[in-house]
Amino acid sequence: MIHPVAVIGGGISGAAAALRLAQGGRAPLWIAPDLQGAFKPGEHLGPAATPLLKTLGSDAMLRAEVHRHAHSTYSAWGSDVLLERNAIVHLEGPPTVLDRAAFEQALTEAAVLAGAERISQPVSKVQVCDGHWRLQVGSQSLDAGFLIDATGRKALIGSKYATRFQADKLCCQYALFDRPDRSPLRPVTLIESVPNGWWYLSVLADQRVVVNFYTDADLPGFDPAEFEAHVFQTNAIAAFLSDNALQIATPATRLTTNSSWIAPAIGAGWAAIGDASAAFDPLSSHGMTTALWSAIEVSDAYVAQDRKRMQAYADSVSKGVHDYLRARERVYAQEARWCESPFWARRLKSIDDLGPPIASQASERDPECLT
Ligand SMILES: Cc1cc2nc3c(=O)[nH]c(=O)nc-3n(C[C@H](O)[C@H](O)[C@H](O)COP(=O)(O)OP(=O)(O)OC[C@H]3O[C@@H](n4cnc5c(N)ncnc54)[C@H](O)[C@@H]3O)c2cc1C
Repeated sequence: MIHPVAVIGGGISGAAAALRLAQGGRAPLWIAPDLQGAFKPGEHLGPAATPLLKTLGSDAMLRAEVHRHAHSTYSAWGSDVLLERNAIVHLEGPPTVLDRAAFEQALTEAAVLAGAERISQPVSKVQVCDGHWRLQVGSQSLDAGFLIDATGRKALIGSKYATRFQADKLCCQYALFDRPDRSPLRPVTLIESVPNGWWYLSVLADQRVVVNFYTDADLPGFDPAEFEAHVFQTNAIAAFLSDNALQIATPATRLTTNSSWIAPAIGAGWAAIGDASAAFDPLSSHGMTTALWSAIEVSDAYVAQDRKRMQAYADSVSKGVHDYLRARERVYAQEARWCESPFWARRLKSIDDLGPPIASQASERDPECLT
């Protein structure tokens, strides 16, 4: 049996695509390994996501008690002064600080309820066979006519059949902080720049606190064991942690968070969505919104069998990346205190002066039999 369409990836983009396809009467084969309730960083959902969740009939998910509204974000960026960005300026309502695992679980349940046929194992091999895709999933071989690549930065299909670009080497170390008494903390999000990068802190709805440090992967970082010592060298973030007697509760974990994308975002018999098409600096809080948007665009184009619409999606991804790189340049240019430090010096250069982003060529050409 050949499944007309398969979605690979169980994050936000994969779950949203599986749900949208099923809502459009094209319930997909959905290959989505289990997250198993593990903590996943990346919790700040921008207000632009709300209309997208409404389109999916899923905006009520944001009202669950495990999430909280992010009414205020404070940042010390460009000076030591903490400035408040009040959520009242957002027409669509405030941003949300999510419990990521709970949010992804709710989207997963909605997709399965709508009819997506889920397999909770990873794809280990992809081949083109007689004009369709053959996927190895555990001991099963599964065939599909069209693939939606929602495998995040790995871009299982996109990195094979398109060119991958990378604009920087940003990486993140994160840890959770906690205290025995989980009485309510002030619900804040703090951002603080330092000579070798920037720190981020956010209070989760369950009163734990997530702390992230961002720097470049090739710069001297610090041993995960030293994470707590380093965070207490900041100003605003250290003050919040010590005033509330918060202590590190998980080992610091390192993740890639560079700005990277593929071009084109679609090919013969496939389309990439979410981070698999374009992955952004978390400072932008764009990732999850783009994951939802791209899932809806590609699924609707597939349901309508509309090639022009699919091409318009790929064009929007490429324009979106261009606009994002300009915006990123403007935001980093606002911090001019450490022009000599490599982290900031790299970001103070205009993208026009940096030359083309690092590109890695597609390792295989588009399978012509799938045009
Ligand atoms: C530290 C950090 C902080 C962030 N902060 C924010 C933030 O505040 N706001 C925001 O909007 N965004 C943030 N982001 C970005 C956001 O998390 C991503 O944009 C979002 O997760 C993209 O969703 P996705 O579904 O495309 O990819 P992912 O969430 O990466 O999901 C990909 C899925 O594909 C699966 N997969 C991979 N390979 C295979 C395979 N071979 N077979 C089957 N499945 C496979 C994985 O198991 C995974 O479930 C942050 C990211 C990081 C790392």
